[in-house]
Amino acid sequence: MNELLKLSLVETVKLIKSKKVSAKEIIETYINRLEDTEKYNMLSEKNYDEALELANKIDSKKPEDFRPLEGIPIAVKDIFCTVGNKTTASSKILNNFFAPYESTVTKNLKNAGAIVICKTNMDEFAMGSASDTCIKGEVINPWTDDFSKPLTPGGSSGGSAAVVAISGACFSLGTDTGGSIRQPASFCGNVGLKPTYGRCSRYGIIAFASSLDQAGPISKTVEDAAYALTYMASWDKNDSTSVNIKMPDLLKNIKEGIKGLKVGVPKEYIIDGMSDEIQKLLENGRTWLKDQGAEVIDISLPHTKVALPCYYIIAPAEASANLARYDGVKFGYRAEGPFKDLNDMYCKTRGEGFGKEVKRRLLIGTYVLSSGYYDAYYIHAQKVRRKIAEDFNSAFKDVDVILSPTAPSDAFVLGEKKEDPINMYLNDVFTVPSSLAGLPAISIPAGLSKNNKPLGLQLISNKFTEDTLLKTAFALEEAASFTHRPNLEK
Ligand code: GLN
Repeated sequence: MNELLKLSLVETVKLIKSKKVSAKEIIETYINRLEDTEKYNMLSEKNYDEALELANKIDSKKPEDFRPLEGIPIAVKDIFCTVGNKTTASSKILNNFFAPYESTVTKNLKNAGAIVICKTNMDEFAMGSASDTCIKGEVINPWTDDFSKPLTPGGSSGGSAAVVAISGACFSLGTDTGGSIRQPASFCGNVGLKPTYGRCSRYGIIAFASSLDQAGPISKTVEDAAYALTYMASWDKNDSTSVNIKMPDLLKNIKEGIKGLKVGVPKEYIIDGMSDEIQKLLENGRTWLKDQGAEVIDISLPHTKVALPCYYIIAPAEASANLARYDGVKFGYRAEGPFKDLNDMYCKTRGEGFGKEVKRRLLIGTYVLSSGYYDAYYIHAQKVRRKIAEDFNSAFKDVDVILSPTAPSDAFVLGEKKEDPINMYLNDVFTVPSSLAGLPAISIPAGLSKNNKPLGLQLISNKFTEDTLLKTAFALEEAASFTHRPNLEK
């Protein structure tokens, strides 16, 4: 592998600034890498020409004028609106959609000098855990050994995670509604960070479940995640749920260690039937944090077991409202006429435009919001959500950070769970509670399964304490010292 591809984001930033390597060479190297790894089907759109043009401009600049991400190639999940490229959310209904405006997160990154080299495949409208509902076909996990049984990269940000796993970008963007950054990061051996709800603007991100959706980086290292988030986040008047709370300096104390920090391990996260390897992983996590000087204690988050059903009411309910806009009138796909009437046009357009999983969610969402069922399901789920948040609030009176596995397994074979949605939803058991509570959380690669596939540990911290979260994650990363990369010579 080209030496440039082995560098972290932070190292690449320094190298570009030193002018020892041109931005053009960096971008070309990454483009070649993406071209060589097409078999993983990670990309929804290539942006190579524009990327090279931008790199040339950078090379004529003086390093004193360089911005913090000058010349850095990034991959963007195809749910962020980017002007000049298609934005499809991997759905037929948006298959020819060109957004008229730029998402705030990608705008922030571009303003910091980053170069979008590609957009990445994902589950349709970010609903899924396997990246197997993309309009462009399934994404294949680069850790796959046997191509007759390709592995899932996780989902929904599977393309973004796979790109980082093969070093096809310095970092990538994902979105996380119930785990879609953290679980694919775990399956692909990357770091995946979901910030506090409200940290990054949702403006220009195609909505799935607005009270849960949050953008975040997928990267090779914890330090890179801190660096990327620093330039993604902003308070934005275009998103009334983005917050005007100053981001702590995420890099300043990241290496200071965790002596005296209190880490809680919730007993409810040790679930029935949890495999030995996941239990062992969690045990290792405890030991590593203790060895680094943290105090590790057992805690309880009593409403954990109702988090998954609660999420699978609230997220589909919000989705059914958000996706009502795709009606074939103003934008997006419209079925071929003639139509009997307007309703016929809606039905055919939505019937043909949405995939099976999206339709399943829209049916559930519409049902739980319908009169007669609203109180029993939706209002009830909102009350449960409050209880879950209260569990975390009381836990954070005693501890600074919470430790758990990220996912209940390593990457599974693509297709294995496709016809069994409940089994698929169980993937989110450890990631959904913190999403419902709006908390920041991160997945760190921490070991290999018996199949030699990556396994991630998750850390969760209190709202707006990404500095504490990242400091702990850095210590855990050092202790776990996960250096494995996928072998692509297959
Ligand atoms: N896997 C979860 C779902 O299918 C989470 C998706 C996400 O975070 N976007 O809803």
